This record gives sequence, structure tokens and C-alpha cells, in this order.
Amino acid sequence: MTRFAFNAALLLACLIASPPADALPRHQAVPGGVAVIELPATGAARPQVSFRDRPVMVIAENERWFAVVGIPLSMAPGPASLSIDNPDGSALPLTFVIGNIDYPEQRLTIGNKRQVDPTAEDLERIAGDRREINRAFRSWDREPVDTAFHLPAIGPRSSAFGLRRFFNEQPRSPHSGVDIAAPDKSAVVAPAAGVVVATGDYFFNGNTVLIHHGQGLVTMYCHLSEIDVQDGERLDAGDPIGKIGQTGRVTGPHLHWSLSLNQVRVNPELFLVEPIPAQ
Ligand SMILES: [Zn+2]
Repeated sequence: MTRFAFNAALLLACLIASPPADALPRHQAVPGGVAVIELPATGAARPQVSFRDRPVMVIAENERWFAVVGIPLSMAPGPASLSIDNPDGSALPLTFVIGNIDYPEQRLTIGNKRQVDPTAEDLERIAGDRREINRAFRSWDREPVDTAFHLPAIGPRSSAFGLRRFFNEQPRSPHSGVDIAAPDKSAVVAPAAGVVVATGDYFFNGNTVLIHHGQGLVTMYCHLSEIDVQDGERLDAGDPIGKIGQTGRVTGPHLHWSLSLNQVRVNPELFLVEPIPAQ
């Protein structure tokens, strides 16, 4: 083998062994954020990790293993513990610290009063929607995951993740996703490869698509005017899934984009390789 060929082979081996640095989401260990924690494990077998009794995503980078943990918005700052679950049934705790974050308030006026104070019939429908959406959020497999996400829609950020919300001056749940103010009927695309795990027309979310990207990483696209995929469909990054709209509880056309990890909603922007432009 010539020296050049040897170097080329070595370079190729390095490229295969070392995924790009942006393969891991950004570490932001706060309520509503993501903790990226290196595991004290080597070898080819993917370690099994759980957090609050739910399986946690584990990805490899540079021949090291990292747990990628979604932290609930409702969790208090302070010490928290992961569990590394060994095949022999023993478990090793791994502690990390959840930091502080102050999410701003947002006050919105909704013209359709039923969307702020739903009727008994609406509440029944809302409960059914929630069951279906939570079933999609519980999706799980042990496949490798592409966590380098591209923008699902082109437009400025109109509402950040985590805002403490008041609808018609009444306190409601914090904003569990990020809003992108893309033009009505413009394209919404898959930010990474995945499988469609639910589609539906929901009371608050309107026309919605949920995609499982692997290992419990699930994304949700709401308020669409049109859904262009079906349950079970396999998607590549950039594949169209629907069109921007204003179905459900909205004040105008936009995409509400949520990201769920170990069944908790966290800031999707931590997974983006390019930022959402500020408004
Ligand atoms: Zn939203």
C-alpha cells in the first residue's frame, strides 16, 4: 500500500469512527432542557439507562457513550439521578445537577372562548386526543438515532419554548414547544429520519403529525392546514409531512413544534444544527 493510500484509508476509518461534533444535542440541564451525560461505559454494547423509570436515549460519539435525558419543565432545580441498568439486574446510579432557568410570561387573547373554557363534550374529546398523543410519545426502540435536526419550516420564531402562558388572562400550561411563523400553506418537512406514529385532527393542536426518530425521540407538528403522510410511513430528513395552517387553538397561521424525549417535552431548538431566526 502506498503512503497516500494508507493515509486515505486511515482518514476514512477516522471519519467512520468519529461522527460529526453536532451529532449530540446541546447540553442544557435545566427544567425543559436536555442533559447530555457521558457514561462510564466502553465497548460495543449500548448501555441501558433509565430516568424516573423510563428508558433514556443513549448515543455513541467518538467511541464514547452518552445518555441524552429530557428534563421535565415541572422538575425543580437541584440534584437528579439516572440509573445505568446492567444486564445482570443490578443498577448503578449516576447523579447530575439540574440548573435554574426563568421562562418569561406570555399573555394571549383567544377569540374562540370554547378553546379557553371547553365544554364537557370538548373535554371528552380532549382526553381522547391526549391518550392518542401520549401513546405516540411512549414510542421506543433501540435503533441508532439521527439527532442532528434541520428546520422543519422556514420562518421566524414567534413563541419560544417554556413561556408561562395566560389565555384571556387565565393561567394555562406552559408552552411545550416552539412556534415558527411560516406563511400559510408553506411546507413542513421532517427535520430528521423517522416513522410517522400518529396523525389526527385534535381539539387544541388541530391537524397534527407525530414522528418517532428512534429511542423515544418523538416530534410533533401542529395546526397544519394539510397532512401529507400516513401512520407507519418512513421518512427521510427533508421529506414533506404537511402544510402550515391555523387549525386548533391559534391566533394565526404557524407551526407549533414539540419534541419529546423519555416522554417529556423539551426545547426542540437544542437539537437544531441551524437556529430558528429571531422575529
Ligand atoms: Zn405553540
